[in-house]
Amino acid sequence: MAPATNSRSATVAITGPSLLDPLAAIAQRSGFGVKRLGDAMTIDAPLGDVRFDPTENGTELTLTARTPAELQLLTDLYAQRLKDLSLGVPITWAQHTGGMPLNQIVGTVISIRALSPSFARLRLAGDFKAFKQPNAGLHLRLLLHPDSPEWPTLDANGLTQWPCGIASWHRPPYTVRRICAQGTWIDVDIVLHAGGRVTEWCDRVAPGDEVALHGPSGSKQPNAKWLGLIGDETALPVILRIIENAATDTKGQAFIATRHPSDAQQIETQTDIELSWLDMNDDQALLDALNQLIVPDTDRHIFFAAERNFAAQARNWLTQNKLVGPGSKAAAYWTR
Ligand SMILES: Cc1cc2nc3c(=O)[nH]c(=O)nc-3n(C[C@H](O)[C@H](O)[C@H](O)COP(=O)(O)OP(=O)(O)OC[C@H]3O[C@@H](n4cnc5c(N)ncnc54)[C@H](O)[C@@H]3O)c2cc1C
Repeated sequence: MAPATNSRSATVAITGPSLLDPLAAIAQRSGFGVKRLGDAMTIDAPLGDVRFDPTENGTELTLTARTPAELQLLTDLYAQRLKDLSLGVPITWAQHTGGMPLNQIVGTVISIRALSPSFARLRLAGDFKAFKQPNAGLHLRLLLHPDSPEWPTLDANGLTQWPCGIASWHRPPYTVRRICAQGTWIDVDIVLHAGGRVTEWCDRVAPGDEVALHGPSGSKQPNAKWLGLIGDETALPVILRIIENAATDTKGQAFIATRHPSDAQQIETQTDIELSWLDMNDDQALLDALNQLIVPDTDRHIFFAAERNFAAQARNWLTQNKLVGPGSKAAAYWTR
C-alpha cells in the first residue's frame, strides 16, 4: 500500500499466541481487518499495515504507512501496545538516527487575534506541506508544556521521547481551518472558554514564538456526494473546511451551533450544501438538526461532533436510524 521508505521494523523475541492474540483482539474490537496464518498475522489499520512474520529469533514486526506522519503515529502506538503486554522479552527496533518525530512540525506564530466573541485565530508559519497531501488528516495536536523548554525528539529506536514524560504535556486536538496554497502557513480557530489551558496560552503567546504540533492526523475530507454535517463551535472549523474543500457538485445540509450569533463565519462555496447556524445555548438544537437531515440512500456521509454527551446521543440516533458504518461518524470533541 505505501512506499517502502515509510516502513519501520522491530524484532520481538517471542512467537505465538501471547504476542498475536491480544493485538488481534484490540484490532478486531476497533473493526480493523485481521488475517492470520499460523504465527504470521497482518492487521489492516487506518494508520497503515502491520505485519507479524515468524523468524529464527522470534517475530518480525513491520509497520508500513502512507506518510511519514502516519508511520510515526503507528510506530509509537505499537511500541506502547507491546509495552502494555508486559511480555518480558527483548524488543529490538531497527536503529534510527534520532532527530524530530516524523509527525512533528515546529512553527512560528505570525499572529494571534480575536476573531469573534468566542474565537481567537492563530496563524502559524512553517512547513505544513504534509497537510496539503491528498487525503491528509484535517487535524493536529498542539504541544503545550508548563515547564519544558525542549520539544519532543526521537530516540535511537525511532520512538517519540517526551521531555518530563508524556503525561505532563497538554496535547489538545485542533483543526487546520485554512492552509495557504504553498503550505507555508495555517490558521487554527480556537474556542476561548473559562479555565481552558489553550485559552490561557492564547493570552501569553506572541508573534515570533515557536509552537510545536503533531500532525496531520484524524479524520480526512469525506468525498461523498451528499454530506450531513452537524456540530457545535469546536466543530465549526472542521465543518467549514469540509464545505470549502468539497467538490462543487456536492449536496447536503450543515448545522453549526455557536454561543454567540457573531461567531458565525461567512464562507464561499459553490456546493449545494445548505448551511444553518444554531444557538448552542439551546440543548436540543443539535439533536433537532439530526432529525432534520434528509439522508439519501447512497453516496452519503454524516459527520457529528460536539460535547461528549451530545456525541453519545448522536451515536444512538445513528444506530436507531441504521446509519452506523463507514459513512458516518459521531465524535466527542470535548468533555464538559
Ligand atoms: C478532532 C478534534 C478537532 C478539534 N478541533 C478544534 C478546533 O479547531 N477549535 C477548537 O476550539 N476546539 C477544537 N477541538 C476541541 C478541543 O480539542 C477541546 O475543547 C480541548 O479540550 C481544548 O483544550 P483546552 O486547553 O481549551 O481545555 P482544557 O484545559 O483541557 O480543559 C479545561 C476545562 O475546560 C473544559 N472544556 C474543554 N473544552 C471546552 C470547550 N470547548 N468549551 C467549554 N469547556 C471546555 C474541560 O472539560 C475542562 O474542565 C477539537 C477536538 C477534536 C477531538
